[in-house]
Amino acid sequence: MENDDFRNWAHRFADWIADYMQSVEKYSVMPDCRPGDIKNRLPAVPPANGEPMENLFSDFRETIVPGMMHWQHPMYGGYFPSSRSGPSVLAEMLTSGLGAQCMTWLTSPAAAELEERVTEWLRDMTGLPADFTGVIQDTASTATLVSILTAREQRTGYAISRNGFQATHRFRVYASEHVHSSADKAVRIAGIGQDNLVKIPSDDQFAMIPEKLDEAIRNDRRQGSDPLCVITTLGTTGSAGVDPLKSIGMIAKRHGCWHHVDAAYAGTALILPEYRRFTEGIETVDTLVFNPHKWMFVNFDCTAYFVRDKDVLTKTFSVTPEYLRTAEDDRVNNYRDWGIQLGRRFRALKLWFVIRYYGVSGLREILRNHIRWANWLEQQMTDSGEFEIVAPVTFSLVCFRYKPAGMNDPQEADRINEQLLKKLNNSGKIFLSHTRLNGRFVLRFVPGNIQLTHDHIRRAWELISETAGTLDER
Ligand SMILES: *Cc1c(COP(=O)(O)O)cnc(C)c1O
Repeated sequence: MENDDFRNWAHRFADWIADYMQSVEKYSVMPDCRPGDIKNRLPAVPPANGEPMENLFSDFRETIVPGMMHWQHPMYGGYFPSSRSGPSVLAEMLTSGLGAQCMTWLTSPAAAELEERVTEWLRDMTGLPADFTGVIQDTASTATLVSILTAREQRTGYAISRNGFQATHRFRVYASEHVHSSADKAVRIAGIGQDNLVKIPSDDQFAMIPEKLDEAIRNDRRQGSDPLCVITTLGTTGSAGVDPLKSIGMIAKRHGCWHHVDAAYAGTALILPEYRRFTEGIETVDTLVFNPHKWMFVNFDCTAYFVRDKDVLTKTFSVTPEYLRTAEDDRVNNYRDWGIQLGRRFRALKLWFVIRYYGVSGLREILRNHIRWANWLEQQMTDSGEFEIVAPVTFSLVCFRYKPAGMNDPQEADRINEQLLKKLNNSGKIFLSHTRLNGRFVLRFVPGNIQLTHDHIRRAWELISETAGTLDER
């Protein structure tokens, strides 16, 4: 592509992005698509000859955009947010323009040193201990896998890396019954095995019961298994439950277990001093992960992974063939040794832009608004008498069920709530997701978008209550 062409298109695309941000609310939040709809519109064979950018751009607008979920629509409230912001998008443009691959310090010193600095910022912003060191990973799933692998290697003196698993290794990993599925994946990949992920029961607030953890570990010890690692979740995926970190940490420590904290979504709330109580007992924690790509307005992907002992991390992952040796190896962070992949994207730039553009106080204000509005929605639902709130609204997630007077059969209520979800999502005006808590079908709404206002939440409440009303008249 000629540079002049590139320049023209870059300006047009920038305009398109700005228009999209400004008018995202004109789109249906969830696309109206059936499986195969999009693929069938794409030619089965690649073009033999190059095509004009004009055609690519129009196909993007006409075929791709209508098949997208509009995650940045302010009425998007499903799963957890994947929030982005202007400064983050701009940084991603620069990153892709630089096109640098940041595997070692030498391959981009500024990327390595910026990552070092912004992860220190993030550590201090969230009140994590000064002896924690951060590194950016692609996702929380990867970070949790990295943590379990590090625990495994530290426990065995790096023997499994060298010799593979032996029959004598009988590791057990413990987490709440509400732990994210990435923990299941991690124990499978790490060779520990799904059956050795012990799911500990939770209380009525969806928080792990520490006594049950202690019991499970003691039992395993008696039977000759080797308790390796405990995972505490701050903000479970279903209901944003908060495991009691301090009690769990003391048990983990007593039994010599590695302690990993999964705060993928809720970790961002630690920027608010009023949430720091959740990390009381952090002295017992070996590793912690949270996702700025969820609720901190940094484009996917960007995961912050903090470790207390960076030497066990790098000893687990460092493999240095001759061609990767550099003269600076003992003085710099070569992030290829801090995780699974060799090649790395330059993710620190967008984090730097977002933190600087909003400042800590700006970020705090946005987060506090989201939490306030979630509490407002909770209040409307409670006051209406027709909805029940099924989990504490500790952060910005509201878990609820429609329960009009006289509806006492829980199965019938499940059906009604499934219908409510379908009707709301099909309207294209709002998007929610669901989960099951205590066996019951539950709707989840999580405000987390940077363009969100209190008016959007008022509108969400109107849509939810009005739509629920229409279900009554079946
Ligand atoms: C979202 C989430 C994850 C997975 O995050 P990825 O970055 O998509 O891997 C893990 N744990 C919890 C608690 C989550 O909410």
